[in-house]
Amino acid sequence: MLINSYRHRLFAASLLIALLGTFSTAQAKRASQGSGSATTVVIDAGHGGYDRGGIPGQRVAEKDMTLDVAQRLKRVLAAGGYRVVMTRDSDVFVSLGGRVAIANSYPNALFVCIHFNSAKRMGAGGIETYFYSRESLPLASAIHYYVAGGAPSSNRGVRRRGYYVLRKTNIPAVLVECGFLTNPTEAAYAQTASYRQKLAEEIAAGVGGRNSVTSALTTTRVATGETIPLQPYIDQTKVAKSERHRSKRSHKKSARKKRSSKPAESKTKAASKDQEG
Ligand SMILES: [Zn+2]
Repeated sequence: MLINSYRHRLFAASLLIALLGTFSTAQAKRASQGSGSATTVVIDAGHGGYDRGGIPGQRVAEKDMTLDVAQRLKRVLAAGGYRVVMTRDSDVFVSLGGRVAIANSYPNALFVCIHFNSAKRMGAGGIETYFYSRESLPLASAIHYYVAGGAPSSNRGVRRRGYYVLRKTNIPAVLVECGFLTNPTEAAYAQTASYRQKLAEEIAAGVGGRNSVTSALTTTRVATGETIPLQPYIDQTKVAKSERHRSKRSHKKSARKKRSSKPAESKTKAASKDQEG
């Protein structure tokens, strides 16, 4: 009886320990995910393989710079406890669709694309960061804040643009342009290992600060989603024209519908369109 009761108590105690253990493991897991935000970072080194990046005749290959910064970022993030996935980890070509597919296979991840800029004008320079979805803005703002703040280059701002890799990804996605390789000063920086390490550390700081830095940033240093216009990524000139055309003649909407049965009507419309210029 006494032995039985002791065994019961022992069982209860071990059960309690087991339960507490499960609880604390779950709690730690949740804490490492930071209140629902991701700890996996998919790093996308721009270009690669036959795709050098940049513009024709560019001396410093963009693909080499992006890969090196990406690999440095991988080490910094891994040291900081992040799980890191690379869309490429060597000089190979990966299609944009392939990059997006990798990113989208980690539903709680963050997607960071590393690029360097180029321009025909040698004087063009600076850091710019792109995002597309609203959920990506905090990450974009934070990364931009740190990279632009840590770089000697000018701040070209956070911009919204529908790049394929930003548009097709279902997770927060940011593309950072770490300076112009066609700018002699910025190219010289980019070719320095210590500077590429600095870039990696600043990007990592942005990843880490995505939830704390942004709220202040969006109201001060970086424009909010509302004030950043969507820069066109497809030729919308024709759409815009017909849109304007329609609004000007909304009263003739019924007439237009009959166009196919009345060729004379469309002729009149065409004539007046010409007059408009
Ligand atoms: Zn690029």
